[in-house]
Amino acid sequence: MRILIFDSLSRKKQEFIPIDANKVRIYACGPTVYDYAHIGNARMAVVTDLLVRVLKKKYKKVLFVSNITDIDDKIINESEKLKIPFKELTDKFSKIYNKEMSSLNVNTPDIQPKATEHIDEMILMIEKLIKNKCAYVMNNHVMFNVKSYKHYGTLSRRTLEEQLEGSRIEIADYKKNAGDFILWKPSKDQQPGWNSPWGRGRPGWHIECSAMSKKCLDTPFDIHCGGVDLTFPHHENEIAQSCSAIEPNSEPEHFSKYWFHNGFVTLNGEKMSKSVGNIQLVNDLLNKYSGETIRLSLLSAHYRQPLNWTKDILEQSKKTLLRIHKNYEKIKVNDFEAFDIKKNEFYIEFLESLFDDLNTPRALSIIGKNLNHVTTKNQEDKQKIAHATFEALNLLGLYSNNKRNIHFDDSLIEKLINERNVARKLKNFARADEIRQNLKKKNIEIEDTKEGTVWTKLK
Ligand SMILES: [Zn+2]
Repeated sequence: MRILIFDSLSRKKQEFIPIDANKVRIYACGPTVYDYAHIGNARMAVVTDLLVRVLKKKYKKVLFVSNITDIDDKIINESEKLKIPFKELTDKFSKIYNKEMSSLNVNTPDIQPKATEHIDEMILMIEKLIKNKCAYVMNNHVMFNVKSYKHYGTLSRRTLEEQLEGSRIEIADYKKNAGDFILWKPSKDQQPGWNSPWGRGRPGWHIECSAMSKKCLDTPFDIHCGGVDLTFPHHENEIAQSCSAIEPNSEPEHFSKYWFHNGFVTLNGEKMSKSVGNIQLVNDLLNKYSGETIRLSLLSAHYRQPLNWTKDILEQSKKTLLRIHKNYEKIKVNDFEAFDIKKNEFYIEFLESLFDDLNTPRALSIIGKNLNHVTTKNQEDKQKIAHATFEALNLLGLYSNNKRNIHFDDSLIEKLINERNVARKLKNFARADEIRQNLKKKNIEIEDTKEGTVWTKLK
């Protein structure tokens, strides 16, 4: 079965053919860790996680690298504001990010490189770019000269004028051209910095990904992923740096063969972003909904479409999951191994829909259709339905812990929490404690706050 993906570089849905079928290599731009992740960040993580899971159905080895940006101006500003060392801030939020993503059943990347641990590689790449005459030093900055790379703008299809849209007309005194971007900049004494041939300073954001993807995957690799908002300038700049470091004007495909971009998350039709101030944090949502409900909401629209985030989507996903699980549990599951999943027609159709550029809306409707047959009297058919449903939910990451017969949904958790609160009111602390312990066994941690009892799903 062929895997098709939409490649943003060629703007075509194409058959995915790996460079080396024995080792598929993928890179995704990870988070800048100075605050809680919002649902837009989570969409990238969930969609990429699904892409990796789907590729693993066909290829034995898939190496997935996604970085942590732990040095950046936003990090420095936030640490100065909070008066804590930047490292303390980034350590805290990388841990939180990983924990939240794990609540959404996102598998940890095989390698999660940190920018601050790859400064040497960045310096080496910048030196190479200067040597290749694609970068220059000006007023203590090292700049990439966009005019040196003839393919600049290929990914985003922007003309030179469009590239400059929104940037200041006045050219900074360390730039030759308005579109040139920073590879290395000086750090003030109190700011984090590293020694380099150009003085004490820190890397620009774009060079981080070029250096880390080269180190962890080598180039060219198969797929570069990220949110569509990173296409310009970040991904365009990554291509310019990585390719020019190979040799001047090297083709964009020499960096990554395919480019995979997921759409925006919008709130009331507007792009969700920190600057607009309309963000919804994963952390807050996890207090109200299970990770699986949030994950299903993120997968309910096709990954390339904008996703309009509403309470309705969450409520609908909660209901859908409940219906799927209820129907699924009507079937007594005993011996899965007796069936060959590869011959199950529903599962084949389901897999085909995901192999077709991750068509999750279709995949979900196939699960629903499969479960409609649950009323059949034929026991063997029932087993087949159960088997296919389990495999499908497992691949989508909507059935965690691989526990086939234990389902613990949000409404049951809330029912138990209510029961515990009643027990506490009646001063039946033994029962209250028993419920807490039972929840804990299911990896549900509860906490009593002023606003009431909140729960989190641990992994
Ligand atoms: Zn990146």
